[in-house]
Amino acid sequence: MDCIFCKIIKGEVPSSLLYEDEYMIIIKDISPQADKHYLLIPKRHYQSIVHMSGYDAFVLAKCLRKLGELTEELGLGGGFRIASNVGENGCQSVPHLHFHILGGEKLSEKMG
Ligand code: 5GP
Ligand code: ZN
Repeated sequence: MDCIFCKIIKGEVPSSLLYEDEYMIIIKDISPQADKHYLLIPKRHYQSIVHMSGYDAFVLAKCLRKLGELTEELGLGGGFRIASNVGENGCQSVPHLHFHILGGEKLSEKMG
């Protein structure tokens, strides 16, 4: 499958990897939109929360909990924002579920 995030997960495409476990990776976004802009990417390929299984939901809860534990070491102690773009109206450009994690500075009050 020609999925850039699957290739990054397999190590076929380089990335700035910040964290990895059996369920997910956290990397720096290649085109940051905040002082700190990371991507939390579950390892299993599916397009979005619209396409997730019950097991994916279990895994995602573990991923988010782990993110909560990593905030200080990721430089997000002052707070952050999590966003996941879904589909065309959401401007999703990579069809492999991922969460943008933005922080390191005071963010805009506007969400969209
Ligand atoms: P989306 O638009 O799907 O919500 O977000 C995709 C994100 O992936 C974008 O913020 C884009 O900058 C990032 N991205 C796309 N290709 C790569 C890549 O090869 N490496 C990294 N680190 N980020 C990427
Ligand atoms: Zn993928």
